[in-house]
Amino acid sequence: MNIIFLGAPGAGKGTQAEKVSAHCGIPTISTGAIIRTAIKTGTPMGLAAKAYAESGALVPDEIVIGIIKERLAEDDCKKGFILDGFPRTVVQAEALDRMGVRIDLVISIEVRDEVIVDRMSGRRCCEKCGASYHVKFNPSKDGVTCDKDGTVLSLRKDDKPEVVKERLETYHKQTEPIKAYYEAAGKLQTVDGEVSVDDVTAAVYSVIDGIH
Ligand code: ADP
Ligand code: ADP
Repeated sequence: MNIIFLGAPGAGKGTQAEKVSAHCGIPTISTGAIIRTAIKTGTPMGLAAKAYAESGALVPDEIVIGIIKERLAEDDCKKGFILDGFPRTVVQAEALDRMGVRIDLVISIEVRDEVIVDRMSGRRCCEKCGASYHVKFNPSKDGVTCDKDGTVLSLRKDDKPEVVKERLETYHKQTEPIKAYYEAAGKLQTVDGEVSVDDVTAAVYSVIDGIH
């Protein structure tokens, strides 16, 4: 099954994608995580993306479409995949269609902006595996290191309140129109993202079960 998770920054896409990935045995592809790794290691793509990502703007479509094209061609995507953070513009959604990539389901996790701002200040991430925790709502076992690989958790540079504000604006202007695109294709399902992590997961599974 090929699934897209859509939603504002901090809506819980990564958290839910990780659970569905483990449950269904399919990989999650996070363009944000790929971009952060490229920035950290200083690849040419990372250098080109850095200023956009760190200011809360979108990285240009052609760069991100290139990343996805390469990643989807890998073997582990053959049995299905989850896209977390892609597409983020209608141009990117159209590019997926043009590549002949079949999408079974688009799950939009709905969270209001005021709730997002609170969530982001408490987000803690594992730079190694990309897992995302929250100091209050979804802490790691010891509150300091990643449950999976023991890496010390850190704050993302772009989770600062002023950058989060920019990212939310970017989301409403450039990403939200994708909902109409997938609604017209009969693929869009929305879930309430303002309930507990487990309750969101239950809603996500029920939407996935609905398409079998
Ligand atoms: P979030 O947790 O806010 O959803 P991501 O980790 O998905 O954030 O993305 C972080 C940043 O990486 C974005 O603000 C943007 O600069 C860049 N990025 C990630 N995915 C895309 C995409 N599909 N198109 C353009 N830029 C992207
Ligand atoms: P996204 O991938 O959409 O940017 P994340 O999955 O990283 O979002 O979640 C953003 C932050 O909110 C993280 O700190 C995460 O632990 C927390 N979080 C995710 N889902 C919920 C929820 N349902 N209730 C409260 N906090 C949540």
